[in-house]
Amino acid sequence: MEVKKTGKTEMSTEKLSANEIKTKNRQMIYSYIRERGSVSKQDIVVDMQLSLPTVTSNLEFLKKQGLIDTSRKIKNTGGRNATAFTYIENARLAIGVDITERHIKAVAVNLSGEIVSLVRRRIKFDLGDDAYLKEIGEVVECVKKESGVKEENLLGVGISVPGLISDDGEYVAYGLTLDFTGYKKKEIAKYIPYRSRLIHDSYAAGYGETWSDQRIRNAFYISLSNSVGGAVIIDNAIYEGNTQKGGEIGHMTVVRDGGEQCYCGKRGCFDTVCRAGNLDQYTDGDLEEFFNCLKAGDENARRLWDAYLDDLAMAIHNIKMLFDGDIILGGYVGAYIKDYMKDLCQRVDARDPFEDRSEEFLIECQYKVEAAAAGAALYFIDEFFDHI
Ligand SMILES: [Zn+2]
Repeated sequence: MEVKKTGKTEMSTEKLSANEIKTKNRQMIYSYIRERGSVSKQDIVVDMQLSLPTVTSNLEFLKKQGLIDTSRKIKNTGGRNATAFTYIENARLAIGVDITERHIKAVAVNLSGEIVSLVRRRIKFDLGDDAYLKEIGEVVECVKKESGVKEENLLGVGISVPGLISDDGEYVAYGLTLDFTGYKKKEIAKYIPYRSRLIHDSYAAGYGETWSDQRIRNAFYISLSNSVGGAVIIDNAIYEGNTQKGGEIGHMTVVRDGGEQCYCGKRGCFDTVCRAGNLDQYTDGDLEEFFNCLKAGDENARRLWDAYLDDLAMAIHNIKMLFDGDIILGGYVGAYIKDYMKDLCQRVDARDPFEDRSEEFLIECQYKVEAAAAGAALYFIDEFFDHI
């Protein structure tokens, strides 16, 4: 960065803050256009109380970056039609890949957080196999091609994995679910020739769930999949904790003495009572079939579900007592929870000492598909907004 020599530190501080104001104005103008879709220059000047030259130069910048379109007009009642400055939501895309035990799933996400293309491959997780790593690269290429994004407009590739990730997104700090602790990003992304980053799957999914919902500010996301994970979102940002383990609800002890052994090696973890396997073990690993049985009145399925909901209700209650935010139910089981929310809410409310009603804070996941992949992509979308 070139800084004019002034000989005074004071001056360079002033210079920096002027730059900061400039950046802030640009970000605010862009955000204003994004929220409204299409606006006139006059709208921006009046609503944001900025000078005409400031608005003009920023609009020129945004146009040059290909972020806004100026080909349309807004009809004015007074006669002359004004240029419409229109937000282009597909001006940049980011890709998110979610690697699970049996699938590689990838999505391309636009600047509005919408999934514009999706590719899913069934393949067994095996980071030690070069063919598997190649497959990850191919899935990324495939989703990139389907989205139609040009390479210069691709912001990056977020890679969601079922494990805890180091602060810098460079390696897997804890990956016992699939035994891949210690793997580095450069190994996993060996065939991804773009900027990339590893992201803990629960964080990615929780972030994806709260990103586009303006009503949610503080939330606890519970992922009820093959393993149980969680994410704490405070003021719309993931709270990772001191050692990137914030929200690891799966290993909260819920059975005091004994209990089933968890994959972590300990007994009585919340994971052991609320992972999806507790349900679909009854239907050969087919969760959809489990819910079919439950709907058809199968007595064994009902008993399993009853115990499951009781344990889940207890965990929800405890989170609510600690955290007092919204609680989002996601993961494989979260995708089916809709029809059982009333029952679950009653069980949670039965424990509540404040007469709060859980239907007001308990939320079923919105992204029924690929929340983790979408959330991983959003990392790069946010980074883009921060540096525009
Ligand atoms: Zn555990």
